[in-house]
Amino acid sequence: MTSRIPLIAGNWKMFKVRSEAADLVNAILPVVSRTDYCEVAVCPPFTALQTVYNLVKGTKLALGAQNCHFEDSGAFTGEVSPLMLKDLGCQYVIIGHSERRQKFGEMDELINKKLKALNKHQLKPILCVGETLEEREARRLNEVVERQVRGCLVDVPQEKMLTTVIAYEPVWAIGTGRNATPAQAEEMHIFIRDLLGKMYSKDVAEKVRIQYGGSVKPENIKELMAQPDIDGALVGGASLKPDQFIPLIQFKD
Ligand code: PEP
Repeated sequence: MTSRIPLIAGNWKMFKVRSEAADLVNAILPVVSRTDYCEVAVCPPFTALQTVYNLVKGTKLALGAQNCHFEDSGAFTGEVSPLMLKDLGCQYVIIGHSERRQKFGEMDELINKKLKALNKHQLKPILCVGETLEEREARRLNEVVERQVRGCLVDVPQEKMLTTVIAYEPVWAIGTGRNATPAQAEEMHIFIRDLLGKMYSKDVAEKVRIQYGGSVKPENIKELMAQPDIDGALVGGASLKPDQFIPLIQFKD
């Protein structure tokens, strides 16, 4: 029996001005408060973090950010540091999202620096990994995901691995409406868990939460969550509307 508590996290991407963010949080908060079989987090854009923090402070709804720099401060115009995110009340930070990898050229080495910077401030990384359709069709998915996991976790000690969440997000499933089948997702989650077993230990591998992300919606959440190695979901599109996100939080009801 696993002791991993599923994490359902909403990645709002570049959506929601502050009033919209407040409306969304107010709609989901009562459900989060009475749900005890999963943890829930929302990751608004930087501009709405303070507004959302004011609403979630002292509740069970956790706050996350979508990216960070790896330094605490400095001449990095336009960047936001882990220290600043900690100061805003964030608990989680998404790093290595495929949109950052593909549209902003982020590589494993940079993501590794960010991950270690988050560790320094006791922020929990949600580390995204996943293959493109081309890589899957060329049967290179395991090789690609292994390279990402190993590259992003260089010099990350065991105790910090335990607070890191991995999000397996096949790039071809993000925002496309086409989710990985529960079997495809489970197969990759087992692969990642085995890899963590080799890199750390079986005990660590058993404790690390591995979320699935990619077109998760009310229609597929139950089947995905029924897989033994899927420990929650990182949700984009469906996290933006209460009538879509609430059923995801209530996947067991
Ligand atoms: C994401 O952005 O991490 C994501 C999984 O998006 P969507 O749920 O819209 O596919």
